[in-house]
Amino acid sequence: MSDKPFDRSRRNLLRAGIATAAALPLGSLVLDGRARAADMPKLSEDDPQAQALNYVHDAAKSQSSARQKDAFCHNCMHFKGGPNDQWGPCNIFPGKLVNRDGWCSAWAKASG
Ligand code: SF4
Repeated sequence: MSDKPFDRSRRNLLRAGIATAAALPLGSLVLDGRARAADMPKLSEDDPQAQALNYVHDAAKSQSSARQKDAFCHNCMHFKGGPNDQWGPCNIFPGKLVNRDGWCSAWAKASG
C-alpha cells in the first residue's frame, strides 16, 4: 500500500469518521438518559421501599444509627446522577430520583 501524504490523510479522515460514527450513539444514549432522568419523579420519604431502607432527602437528619457521618447519596455506588445534579437516579429505587444529600441503608461507598 502506498504511503503518500494523500493516502495518509484519507486514512486519517476515515478513522475520524469511524470514531465520530461510533461516538454519536453513545452521546445520544447519555443525552437520552439525562432527558429520562429529568422526567422521573422524586422519591418520596413516605414511599414504602424508602421507609424500609430508612431513606431521607437530607442525610444529616437521618435517625438511623447505621449511617456513617460521611455517607451520602452522592458518594454511594448506586447514585447515577451527574456531579452537578441535586437529584439523580439510583439503582436501588428504579424510576425515581434521590437527593444527592440523601442517604439510605443500602448505601455503599463509591469507588474512586
Ligand atoms: Fe442514596 Fe445510595 Fe441509598 Fe440510592 S442506595 S438512596 S444513592 S444511599
